Amino acid sequence: MTRYVIHLPVTVADLDAAVRLARVVARTMSFLPQVDAQATTVAAEVEHAAAESAEAAGAVTGVEAVADPDVRHRVFCDRRLPSGRPCLLRPGHDGACSRRIGRRSC
Ligand SMILES: [Zn+2]
Repeated sequence: MTRYVIHLPVTVADLDAAVRLARVVARTMSFLPQVDAQATTVAAEVEHAAAESAEAAGAVTGVEAVADPDVRHRVFCDRRLPSGRPCLLRPGHDGACSRRIGRRSC
């Protein structure tokens, strides 16, 4: 079998919002055996012209740098529990891995 990636563009305010939405979508779709929810990542989608314009403005005015579409941000910890099941917490979380999601970790 070959692995494929489904790109699903969304429009949200920032990277944190994109990560939160990706976690919800991944968990929702995890009932499908074909889905590897733990490997879900988020990347910015930047139109080429917009990126060049923002970079030029940033160089002159110090405006925030453009998000790099080549950087993928994991939305789940990549470790597994002793049972072999994936951890459902955010990458770099404090404490032990868990399958229980607190209200603030989503
Ligand atoms: Zn973990």
